Amino acid sequence: MGTLDGRIAIVTGASRGIGAAIVGKLAAEGATVVACARSIESCPGASLCLKVDVSNAEQVDACVKETVAKFGRVDILVNNAGITKDGLLMRMSDADWDQVIDINLKGTFLFTRAVSRPMMKNKGADGQPSGGAIVNIASVVGITGNAGQANYTSSKGGVIALTKTVAKELGSRQIRCNAVAPGFIRSQMTDVLPEDVKNQYAQTIPLKRFGEATDVANAVAWLASDAASYVTGQVISVNGGMV
Ligand code: NAP
Repeated sequence: MGTLDGRIAIVTGASRGIGAAIVGKLAAEGATVVACARSIESCPGASLCLKVDVSNAEQVDACVKETVAKFGRVDILVNNAGITKDGLLMRMSDADWDQVIDINLKGTFLFTRAVSRPMMKNKGADGQPSGGAIVNIASVVGITGNAGQANYTSSKGGVIALTKTVAKELGSRQIRCNAVAPGFIRSQMTDVLPEDVKNQYAQTIPLKRFGEATDVANAVAWLASDAASYVTGQVISVNGGMV
């Protein structure tokens, strides 16, 4: 028996990396998973794959509608889609600022807004409101700041503030909202770093290594499960002890 048996979950940014690992973990725990990304054909573990740009409100609303039409409800939302467009603030273009904020922060808002109504309607076997669980993927640099990432750190700091606000606003409807703040995790996003830079970063981490996508997925699955039923508005760091 899995910890998420019978749950319906939507995971954004599911075509690779951390998102794909989250889909696999939620499915292994018994959830029916809808996997979304801009380009996605298949995703191991997912029951449905949908092409969705999280920064497009119409596409986001259509994705949630289709999920409810096919599976009857949404119990779990994982806002994982994210991008970086790094550069020093003095030289950062408006377009690079806007794109990162639109995908990382506005996308999280749009999906949260879209699931809030169906989650409010959810009822358990006892007929009582059962709400849902929203897990947002933030970042360690949304807590600490980081030179060269004004757009990205602002988006992730915003995601953390949004998480706390959603927890307060929707808590009375039994909708929990938490964030996971990963440190350096091996994925396409960090693979682009030169090998010597990666080694230097690793030396600053108490565990002396990058994390794996499954480390983040395990924390997400716990926050989404009933084992975390009294946990909301929190930021769980998965960073090897960096902060
Ligand atoms: P990744 O390998 O680059 O994957 C990013 C995912 O997001 C892809 O599936 C991508 O698919 C999707 N995506 C990007 N823009 C999208 C959009 N507009 N609409 C829908 N999907 C979109 O990155 P990752 O390392 O797995 O990162 C996942 C999350 O963890 C991100 O939020 C990232 O900020 C966060 N994070 C990562 C690290 C790390 O060290 N890797 C650390 C801290 C936080 P498409 O391109 O097909 O849309």
